[in-house]
Amino acid sequence: MHWRSCKYEAFRIMRKWSHKFMTSDQSPSVFVFRQLSNCRNTMEAADSPRKDSPATPEENSTKKGLRTVNGVQYDFNDPRFAGMGTRAIKRLLKQEHWEATRDERTKIQREKQRRKKEERQKLVEEGVLEPRPKRQRHQEMSLSNVGVVIDCAFTSYMSEKELHSMQSQIVHCYSKNRTAPLSMKTSITSFDEALRTTFDKKTSSWTNWKNVDFLTETYDEKFDKDNLIYLSADSDNVAHELEDGKTYIIGGIVDKNRYKGLCQNKAVEQGIKTAQLPIGEYIHMASRKVLTVNQVYEIMLKWLEYRDWKRAFMDVIPLRKLKESVIVDPKQEEAGSEEQKAEKGEAEEAIDAPQANEDDADSKEKEATT
Ligand code: SAH
Repeated sequence: MHWRSCKYEAFRIMRKWSHKFMTSDQSPSVFVFRQLSNCRNTMEAADSPRKDSPATPEENSTKKGLRTVNGVQYDFNDPRFAGMGTRAIKRLLKQEHWEATRDERTKIQREKQRRKKEERQKLVEEGVLEPRPKRQRHQEMSLSNVGVVIDCAFTSYMSEKELHSMQSQIVHCYSKNRTAPLSMKTSITSFDEALRTTFDKKTSSWTNWKNVDFLTETYDEKFDKDNLIYLSADSDNVAHELEDGKTYIIGGIVDKNRYKGLCQNKAVEQGIKTAQLPIGEYIHMASRKVLTVNQVYEIMLKWLEYRDWKRAFMDVIPLRKLKESVIVDPKQEEAGSEEQKAEKGEAEEAIDAPQANEDDADSKEKEATT
């Protein structure tokens, strides 16, 4: 309520009840007027608290676009932030600060590790702690006759985040290949500037990787087409085994399936054979059968180790995906298809297959494996 209407209201009340104030030593009008003056001051102060006060330094700096991020003052009106919102600018500056202080952080971390090592060494010398068992020398990688190409010609299809994810997946492949009993000779083809920069930034040791070739060329410039097989979930062919002497191409892309059939179409256009992994023969996936680059790579390594697709899939496909899927028993699958044939009148003789309640069997198996 505005103070003027307050005042009017007060006078109205005062007139009505004036006889009540007669006993007071102040005249009623003076009394009420004083009260109202106090009231007015309070209300005005509340309405515009800093109307006449000078702007705070914070207000001044915001007006001019000056902001402090990580203890450093920046001008948010700088042309390099043109078109960016405050949050985006702050995010960018924080990221820049994180990158700029990387060496410092590494130094602190190394110092901390050195100190810890010294402390431990001292305790070992005093007999408080047992010395750590000597680490075995890294075994030499034993190479299979199966090669892999990760086709990285898709960097322009990916956002920066996806490119980073792609790079991490390649690092993951490398670390699995290093420790696998049988590893695969790997080539990263169409290795362009964008990917190289990401590697330099995140995994500078890539230049020392063993059994991995980083090539700027495309795979068809480097390999004999007849020995290449492009892996794609969209292929009509199924790879029942990984053949010696062949090189399998994995499409180096993270796209959350925006570009459906991308690699399949590319291979067909180039006249290169394609094949999908035989997932459908072992698992009825709830979601699409499209896996990530590192999952496909790891499944290949596991197949070389076990020569068993089902084991390979179960080891690599995330539990979360398996839980939603149905694990297929190949014997029952066979019986099931024979039954279908019999129903169609195509089977030559009656089938003595159990009248399996497939759902029951499947769900039991699913329980056992999850
Ligand atoms: N949208 C892309 C999919 C990328 S998945 C496309 O349609 O091509 C990354 C790569 O993993 C694929 O290019 C393929 O080489 C491999 N891949 C994924 N799932 C696969 C499957 N079920 N069988 C064979 N290769 C698969």
